[in-house]
Amino acid sequence: MRIAMLSEHGSPLAVLGGTDAGGQNAHVAELSAALAAAGHDVRVYTRRDDPALPTTVGDADGYDVVHVPAGPAERLAKDELLPYLPEFSRWLVDRWRSGNWQPEVIHAHYWMSGLVALTAGRQVGRPVVQTYQDLGVVKRRHQGAQDTSPACRIASERELGCRVDRVVAQCSDEVGELVRLGVPRSQIVVVPAGVNVAALAPRPGSAVARAAGRFRLLTVGRLVPRKGFETVIRAMAPLPDAECVVVGGPPGALEADPSAQRLWALAEECGVADRVQLVGAVPREAMGDWYRSADVLVAAPWYEPFGLTLLEAMACGLPVVGTAVGGLRDTVVDGVTGDLVPARSPRALSTALRRLLDDEPRRSAYASAGRERAQTYSWSATAERLAELYAEVAAVRRSTLG
Ligand code: UDP
Repeated sequence: MRIAMLSEHGSPLAVLGGTDAGGQNAHVAELSAALAAAGHDVRVYTRRDDPALPTTVGDADGYDVVHVPAGPAERLAKDELLPYLPEFSRWLVDRWRSGNWQPEVIHAHYWMSGLVALTAGRQVGRPVVQTYQDLGVVKRRHQGAQDTSPACRIASERELGCRVDRVVAQCSDEVGELVRLGVPRSQIVVVPAGVNVAALAPRPGSAVARAAGRFRLLTVGRLVPRKGFETVIRAMAPLPDAECVVVGGPPGALEADPSAQRLWALAEECGVADRVQLVGAVPREAMGDWYRSADVLVAAPWYEPFGLTLLEAMACGLPVVGTAVGGLRDTVVDGVTGDLVPARSPRALSTALRRLLDDEPRRSAYASAGRERAQTYSWSATAERLAELYAEVAAVRRSTLG
């Protein structure tokens, strides 16, 4: 099939770890690669944020990335992109009408891509599949006044859910949120994201070097408050035989980054600065070596729509400790592939980590069960289920038009 992926702020080519570059970018990249490997013709449309970018870049994984001119060709926070969406849709419609490539289905990632997809899809008569990646209503609940999303976000997400051809949720928690928001259950299918099990696997001898003599706890993600890095740092005090490595952050030097500064200051305040290392953004292809360098993956988000880093770590054969929120409650089987603890509780996190660090047989049982579980989340299986869905909505659309 000819598939248009819309990811207005999440380019699959971006360096990950910055404020607005994380799971969505990786998700779109991996899904597009898996669909291309299955023989589909995939184009990813993302906003041009650098004048030097060519309009179309062929990715080595078999799909094209098209940079859409909409707004200034510079990096903008995603919460500033709303005014440029009409320009984004107009450009797509012109291109699809005048060019020799028209999608059979449009798959939008994030609510703003959904708005673009609905407008453009209606004009060219193509169906739209929506993945939210993250829901405004959940963000508002957790971040309150610090949530800088445009005021219309929650209402737009409700409307999108009712008007697109199908909504893809990634976990059962998200289904509940969507239904409470007012999206009909019949609109929603659950297709979890995948994990790159070829690149992320146990590989003895292939790991980032580390000092001997203490445990390494790894935690990964954009340095935003809801990822809970503060909780992890606070949990380090009662674990004198462990170090904590934080992977993620903006590209370039971390010294100037306010979030990194806050975490360093907190580590000082807790007396653990000598055991906390912030390494900044790491290229996607190097993530396996970081996971393999650790004894345990820790993820302490306040909320998390999916929880990709836990699955990636499980695929590499690491035991995990996470908070019992959102997608983590589906991906981690508590007591089998890892431990789940309440969010925002350094004490509960410390206790779970202490117990795991002191229990080698438990760590190794979690590691093998986690590895097995991660295999069930392969991107090829996700791509296959989505391709079936695309074919179904395209057939329905053709029959309604015809
Ligand atoms: N990641 C990466 N380099 C970094 C930090 C993160 O490649 O420096 C990747 C990580 O391996 C995972 C994704 O970014 O694939 C983060 O996904 P997650 O769903 O945890 O977070 P999101 O950014 O969607 O909130």
